Amino acid sequence: MSSCVFCRIIAQEIPANVVHETDDIIVIKDIAPKAPLHYLVIPKAHTTSILDLADHEAALAGKMFLAARDVAKKKNIQSFRLVVNTGTESGQSVFHTHLHFLAGKLTQDF
Ligand code: AMP
Ligand code: ZN
Repeated sequence: MSSCVFCRIIAQEIPANVVHETDDIIVIKDIAPKAPLHYLVIPKAHTTSILDLADHEAALAGKMFLAARDVAKKKNIQSFRLVVNTGTESGQSVFHTHLHFLAGKLTQDF
């Protein structure tokens, strides 16, 4: 989707700080971090939110968690929080499914 910022990052049309990549997933640093370590785990295939995930994408949904695991292991992070905003009222602002990976000193309000 040419209008989607994450699709444009995946297509390398705009730059991002990539910390991990597989065939299906890219993990980048969040441009406006809400924690000392704030990454975004992004499937390369465009869906707007988890509400848009199809049953046949169950493996992809699982791969998002495995990518979070691999980033944690790679960076030796023992404690982290995964957040998935879904819909405008939850705070979702980029309508391409993603996990927030937050670590470091965390507050309870994200
Ligand atoms: P959400 O509000 O849950 O949809 O999360 C979207 C996240 O994407 C926010 O935390 C933004 O700071 C982040 N973001 C938006 N544009 C970029 C970008 N170009 N590079 C990295 N992160 C971005
Ligand atoms: Zn997209």
